[in-house]
Amino acid sequence: MAVKRPKAEPFKIKMVEPIRMISREEREEALKRAGYNLFNLDSKDVYIDLLTDSGTGAMSDNQWAGLMLGDEAYAGSRNYHNLANAVKDIFDYKYTIPTHQGRGAEQVLFPILIKPGQFCISNMHFDTTKAHVELAEGRAINTVIDAAYDTTTYHPFKGNFDLEKAEAVIKEKGPENIAMIIITVTCNSAGGQPVSMENIKNTYQLAKKYNLPVVIDAARFAENAYFIKQREEGYQDKTIKEIVKEMFSYGDVFTMSAKKDAIVNIGGLLCVKEDEELYNKCRSRVVPYEGFPTYGGLAGRDIEAMARGLYEGIEYDYLEYRISQVEYLGERLREGGVPVQYPIGGHAVFVDAKKMLPHIPYYQFPAQVLANALYLEAGVRGVEIGSFLLGRDPDTGENLESPLELLRLTIPRRVYTNDHMDVIADALIAIKDKASELKGLEFTYEPKILRHFTARLKPVE
Ligand SMILES: *Cc1c(COP(=O)(O)O)cnc(C)c1O
Repeated sequence: MAVKRPKAEPFKIKMVEPIRMISREEREEALKRAGYNLFNLDSKDVYIDLLTDSGTGAMSDNQWAGLMLGDEAYAGSRNYHNLANAVKDIFDYKYTIPTHQGRGAEQVLFPILIKPGQFCISNMHFDTTKAHVELAEGRAINTVIDAAYDTTTYHPFKGNFDLEKAEAVIKEKGPENIAMIIITVTCNSAGGQPVSMENIKNTYQLAKKYNLPVVIDAARFAENAYFIKQREEGYQDKTIKEIVKEMFSYGDVFTMSAKKDAIVNIGGLLCVKEDEELYNKCRSRVVPYEGFPTYGGLAGRDIEAMARGLYEGIEYDYLEYRISQVEYLGERLREGGVPVQYPIGGHAVFVDAKKMLPHIPYYQFPAQVLANALYLEAGVRGVEIGSFLLGRDPDTGENLESPLELLRLTIPRRVYTNDHMDVIADALIAIKDKASELKGLEFTYEPKILRHFTARLKPVE
């Protein structure tokens, strides 16, 4: 076999959670009950769950031990100090505010930085990030390089800003109408594609030329640092921690969903490099939304798990295993003739359902059809990112056509073994050979907003 074996798991397993594949007949029944929408499945009916990598990671013995040292004080707990010290040590940011998750940090920060009508420029806004920009009456503009939209051609840093595009936006709108620049690492919405150090640095310098604040959306900061070490000239001999420190020197504030690279089930961060006035504004706003600024909606024990998780997330062996596991799944699919977005991103593999099911039109949701076929084949739950998710034109009521019809296979951290990756790959390769038999889907129930979460469907006759 041509595909390189992934790095073996750098841990041994001392507690297991049994999972079970129910029979094919039971899966057919479960899918029918769920209205052909995998969001409506009970997780007990799922064998391998790839819905998201957010909050689904496995904590270590060290993190679980930390839970027992939770100091449940309303103010100034020892766990808060452990967290603030970890932030100082890893990122070199002076001020730390925990939040219940990433969007909690966005909700506190954005109305402080955005004046109504201002624009925010990002490589690509994550969906809750865009929502919080708009809730603060700002507008979100993406300026990622064009290569991000090309799924077949290799580029080492598809998450990069197109700096000419970004500067053109600043000049066109006027710097006084730009609230901030948001650097998303890795670029989640482009498929977990990294941003290079050079691009992060140049983006920061562009912002400073126009006196604009730079916010780093840091959910997958460690995976981004790993890609820099692998792919960028001059970083091979640097440690992940050194790379992270340099990345964050090119920012003024960061928001983080700790449910990703900090490997906790709940938690987030809002950190300020040195601007005391901004920190004080954040501190005042966090109280009514998240809680007192030293606990921010979390129990002391959760804060301890996050402080420890930040260190585990930047361990080289862990990252090598993590990234190589995702890459292995992607490469096995490529080798088996299943079209996937390339190069493989940090946290997920995206299967191109439009290429795999060309006979199914966008308004019959090919990626949703493929997601259902994968569940029937092997009890694996992926998620559709395509026209089903996109919804209808609010004016005409017509189904919008997504430029890409993708099935996202999101890999939780330290949860599934490399053998599970083979189960997933074998199932998709088997589906490829009978793809022409698969039928499109139509609605039996369609809610008006965010339809993909609760809609019900049936196969077309
Ligand atoms: C997950 C995520 C968020 C939001 O964080 P939550 O913890 O889900 O609230 C923001 N930005 C990016 C890039 C993310 O991946």
